[in-house]
Amino acid sequence: MSYVDEVYSMVVEKNPAQPEFHQAVKEVLESLRVVIEANEEAYRKDALLERLVTPERQLLFRVPWVDDKGQVQVNNGFRVQFNSAIGPYKGGLRLHPSVNLGIIKFLGFEQIFKNSLTGLPIGGGKGGSDFDPKGKSDREVMAFCQSFMTELYKYIGADTDVPAGDIGTGAREIGYMFGQYKRIRGLYEGVLTGKGLSYGGSLARTEATGYGLLYLVEEMLKCNGKDIAGKTVVISGAGNVAIYATQKAQQLGAKVVTCSDSTGWIYDPEGIDVALLKEVKEVKRARLTEYAAARKSAEYHEGKGVWTVKCDIALPCATQNELNLEDAKALVANGCFAVAEGANMPTTMDATEYFQKNGILFCPGKASNAGGVATSALEMSQNSERLSWTFEEVDSKLKGIMVNIFHNLDEAAKKYGMEGNYVAGANIAGFLKVAEAMTAQGIV
Ligand code: NDP
Repeated sequence: MSYVDEVYSMVVEKNPAQPEFHQAVKEVLESLRVVIEANEEAYRKDALLERLVTPERQLLFRVPWVDDKGQVQVNNGFRVQFNSAIGPYKGGLRLHPSVNLGIIKFLGFEQIFKNSLTGLPIGGGKGGSDFDPKGKSDREVMAFCQSFMTELYKYIGADTDVPAGDIGTGAREIGYMFGQYKRIRGLYEGVLTGKGLSYGGSLARTEATGYGLLYLVEEMLKCNGKDIAGKTVVISGAGNVAIYATQKAQQLGAKVVTCSDSTGWIYDPEGIDVALLKEVKEVKRARLTEYAAARKSAEYHEGKGVWTVKCDIALPCATQNELNLEDAKALVANGCFAVAEGANMPTTMDATEYFQKNGILFCPGKASNAGGVATSALEMSQNSERLSWTFEEVDSKLKGIMVNIFHNLDEAAKKYGMEGNYVAGANIAGFLKVAEAMTAQGIV
């Protein structure tokens, strides 16, 4: 059996009931096969792949808190510190009822390569809880966040592990967690990113993942003789990534005609009204039915359906495995020619293969959504210097990073004889830097 297959079997055997983690490892190892086979003896002797797929540390903890009725609630807390070869662990905290160890491990594993691709000195980690902030009062969210941080603070710090937002963790949650960290440690340091502007946050961090996605798409199209202006775009999700992806796509001259949440989706042939979407989702924290009620041109549909709409470009920005083979077939049949992932692993493996076989330009999330973590790293730099950069300064650095990421993965794919396979390019480019650092640091 080849080294890659041996390690994959070991992952499945040692990590039972973690299908998302298996899926993420399989996708990465498959596309690294050529690189691994060229160095198999050295990598095998150093157990490089076994070390790469095994987190340096996994923290599981109890999070007790009291709800508004005086009832004690208990959630599971997680932080997986996956790989620190190129810098302190960095990755978001997901608050969603679906969170379990396998999901956090898949996200942490992906984060290693994503962070490496940014070119910045950040290692890979991820965390979160099965707590659901939806429908909770501000006081309940604060009680949960304070309890969560009362355990997590022992393991994080500006130079060791710097968590950030993700699904369910926005500015409100980061604020409560930062306050509790500062209170317990008596230390004002950049231990979290995605902070508010009044206490160490970076301008453009809120917009960064969505804007970065579009900067990368723009460059990918340009390098393939195409232009984003005038194109029709479908986007899933209605959260942080989806909102700012929609905004930037419109600024670049495209028309975004859909958005969705966990209960339904909107088709708006006139183009999504971003100000209204922000009002509904960021201010009122309401359902998309409110968007449809306030806008004549919009149709609301229950369930899932964004991928059935005719478009040129599709940007999945909600959650993992939200775009399957059937969706991919519908998109291709409708003339879609480019797909870039705003969410983490939103496309199933068979759907990704279908896109690639049909000549669709396909960019994986670990490259196309890296703008969020890259700007988080810029927030860390500003916190270290105790300075704040202007919006334009951060935005222009973000754009430079995204353009660079695209060229890195494009060149890596070409170098290993897989031109146009941006999945392989991203995995190879991300892996090589981490592997070199791990080798240089010895067996740790
Ligand atoms: P938000 O919580 O702001 O928004 C998530 C959106 O996706 C919401 O509209 C939500 O619907 C929808 N959604 C969540 N879970 C499901 C589900 N199981 N089925 C259908 N819809 C769902 O999260 P973000 O925008 O921050 O994150 C979106 C994706 O982007 C995630 O995969 C995240 O890991 C990834 N990402 C985020 C980054 C960031 O900087 N925020 C950086 C890089 C990646 P509802 O409103 O009903 O909850």
